[in-house]
Parts: sequence; C-alpha cells; structure tokens
Amino acid sequence: MRRVVCPGSFDPVTNGHLDIISRAAQLYDEVVVAVGGNPAKTTLFTPAERVELIEGATEKLDNVRVDRFEGLIVDFCRANNISAVVKGLRAVSDFDYEMQQAQMNYSQGGVETLFMTTNPLYAFLSSSLVKDFCKFGGDVSGLVPPVVLEELKRRLRS
Ligand code: ADP
Repeated sequence: MRRVVCPGSFDPVTNGHLDIISRAAQLYDEVVVAVGGNPAKTTLFTPAERVELIEGATEKLDNVRVDRFEGLIVDFCRANNISAVVKGLRAVSDFDYEMQQAQMNYSQGGVETLFMTTNPLYAFLSSSLVKDFCKFGGDVSGLVPPVVLEELKRRLRS
C-alpha cells in the first residue's frame, strides 16, 4: 500500500490544507493527516478538537485518516509504515524552511518529501490569518470548511 502523511498543526484546518490532502488522496492509496505542533505554541483548538474538525471536513474522502503525532515525523513514519511526507508550498518564503526539514527527514530516516504547489486560490491562506480575520468580523466562509467556520465563530466572537 502506498501511504503518505500530511503533517501540520492544523489550528484549524483550512481549504488550503484540504486542497493538498484531497489531491494527495487521488494519488496515493492512503493519506494520513498527522496533527502535531509545537507544544510551546498556544493554539486555539486542542489536538483532539483539531483532529475532530479534520475528520468532519474529510468524511467524504474514504482513504484519508486522521491521527495525532508527537515528536519526530520520521518516527511517526517508521511506526506507520509511511515512506513519504506530502507538503504544500505556498510561496518562495515557505521554501527554505521546508527544504531544511525535508533534507533532515531524509538524512535521519530515509523519509522522502513530496512538494505540491498550492492552488493559487489558497496561496495566501494560513490558519493564523483566518483566525485574525474571523476574530475581527471578517468573512472567512470561502476559506475554511463549514464545520470550522461554525467553531471559529463560536470561539472567537462570543
Ligand atoms: P505549520 O506547519 O506552519 O504549523 P500548518 O500546520 O498550518 O502549518 O500547515 C501544515 C502544512 O500544510 C504546511 O506545512 C503546508 O505544507 C500546508 N499548507 C498550509 N497552508 C496551505 C495552503 N494555503 N496551501 C497549500 N498548502 C498549505
């Protein structure tokens, strides 16, 4: 089985993430969305909530499953029999960091990284931007799935 992982913090999942996840799901037998993140970073949603939101947003994609990970993605890959990481590249500014990560992961665990160019519709999109806009009354309905929109409004505007 050709299985890949899409790792990230997904706080919360956006249509940019979903675009990459669904395109990867067309290319591979199984896509594991791995929810992790830096424990020192404050997040709006807990890991369990982030998992639930992604599960809701990907329920129609049969070959996508959502899991949590802590520690190194190479260890997660080894434990789950995954040979490659799929990442979306938005702009040149993403490149340096992603390149370093990819080379580190290859050198440490032989894990490949495949980069997918973002859909231009979502090239500017990040979870932080969505949170900031929503908080101050911006309309983010075209940028996140309906389950996320509902939760964002409840959390940020009450
Ligand atoms: P970070 O890794 O900075 O915490 P996220 O967890 O939000 O970022 O995103 C995880 C991964 O999803 C990113 O590394 C990137 O590969 C991809 N991604 C995020 N936003 C987009 C987008 N708008 N278009 C394409 N890919 C994206």
